[in-house]
Amino acid sequence: MIYVRIINTLTKQRVIFASLKSVQNKNMKKNNATLQLSKEEMRLYGYKVVDAIVEHFDNQDKKLPVSKGTRKEMDHLFLEEAPENAMNATAVLDFVLKEVVTKSTIVSHPKAFSFVPGPSNYISAMADTLATGFNIFSGGWAASPAAAELEVVTLNWLLKIFGFPVKKGGGIFTSGGSMANLTAIVTARKIKCGDDFSKAVIYLSDQAHSSNIKAIRVLGFKKEQIRIIPTNLEFKFSLNKLKNAIARDRLGGLKPFCLIATAGTTNTGTVDPLSEIAAICKKENIWFHIDGAYGGAAILSKDGKKMLKGIEKADSLTVDPHKWFFQPYEMGCLLVRNINHLKGTFTETPEYLKDVEGNKSEINFYDHGVQLTRRFRALKFYMSIKTFGLGEFRKAITYNIKLAEEVEECLRNSPQWEVISPATLAVINFRYNPIDENLNEKKLDALNQYISEQVVASQEALLVTTILHGQTVLRMCLINPRTTMEDIKETFALCNKIAETQKPF
Ligand SMILES: *Cc1c(COP(=O)(O)O)cnc(C)c1O
Repeated sequence: MIYVRIINTLTKQRVIFASLKSVQNKNMKKNNATLQLSKEEMRLYGYKVVDAIVEHFDNQDKKLPVSKGTRKEMDHLFLEEAPENAMNATAVLDFVLKEVVTKSTIVSHPKAFSFVPGPSNYISAMADTLATGFNIFSGGWAASPAAAELEVVTLNWLLKIFGFPVKKGGGIFTSGGSMANLTAIVTARKIKCGDDFSKAVIYLSDQAHSSNIKAIRVLGFKKEQIRIIPTNLEFKFSLNKLKNAIARDRLGGLKPFCLIATAGTTNTGTVDPLSEIAAICKKENIWFHIDGAYGGAAILSKDGKKMLKGIEKADSLTVDPHKWFFQPYEMGCLLVRNINHLKGTFTETPEYLKDVEGNKSEINFYDHGVQLTRRFRALKFYMSIKTFGLGEFRKAITYNIKLAEEVEECLRNSPQWEVISPATLAVINFRYNPIDENLNEKKLDALNQYISEQVVASQEALLVTTILHGQTVLRMCLINPRTTMEDIKETFALCNKIAETQKPF
């Protein structure tokens, strides 16, 4: 009897255990140390992923753009030890679709006005999927000649668009604008200073993007080697102050070697006086780097092209396709007037790469920048431009610039709103400022801060403040081609409603 009971219990347990296992590993091979799925499993899994992405592209405009979550809430949802045993593949995917991708701000939402939106596009998203799916190594020619060629081809498109010499010039796709700026400053230093940069001085304006300072610090420059030149009332590089600073440094026995101008500041869209700065750099033998990470793409529109005149005079230029060229993250780009400058800075050939060096025309992009192993970034740029045509990109960018101008018009016609910095390259800064004697500057700052906080708290729109000339102002960056005047009017209505609740101010 007892014997039979034990057998029964054991069998039962085994059955339960086996059935649990089969639920857990329903779609997985038992022994899966090769990390593979069957063809059918991959297919079903992939379809589910594509369906989710398509659903997002189709439906994102109707979702709330702002996501929130405290560390505590996220820990509660996700914190766990790395699981030693397999889980059901679909269950993991379902969990990610439900809890992970839903908890980030939709930067491609028509009401995501802040920082720099990332409108993206479906073709490029799929191109990235292909590049990852085939795990294409984009370091050297020998490994992937077509990937290298497409990087050459798309860089040539950009060189031509920006008026750089296509034959002598070149570039590299990077993770983003920060990496492009870093790559440019290393190159400038190598070409202008060689290995001794103890006396080198670099110039940038107080509106230059923080990634430049970060790069300068990463490169080991001391504080005394950095000159931050004040901007004028229009937020442009003050040329007199710049010239004085250079003269003073020369007198002090220092070596001015690089100047960073901005073509479209992130704050206000302002373009520095590029041609004048180019002339100063030429005269002074200073490397002229332009940070066009935000505004560079505007060259595809007629008005933008006029504003960016002089951009073609730079020694190096950062543009950021994952901003206004509508590419998904990550994709930045550095263009240089003379490709030998990049090669001269980054070529290091260790023994094990000797065999793959190839002939000179066969470009190894690991010689153009910091990374050896690189993902195939050029593919998304290539496929999206081919699919939509450059003309549609021009139209989208032209629309964005005009939309910001329309918003400015609308604000100027509303008595409670004040334009602080006019629409420039699709950026506009403004503040709520009704005629009310109770409102002083301090109260106005607090009121605009409050409006922004409440808009974000409502999750209806992403609209945050920046500081201009010491004032707290609201900033809209309108590079999403799906943003309409209707989206903007709804957002202003929301702001007005929030402000009304604060009365009397
Ligand atoms: C966004 C931006 C950068 C940094 O680029 P990332 O792609 O975020 O690394 C640099 N400069 C300017 C002007 C920018 O707007």
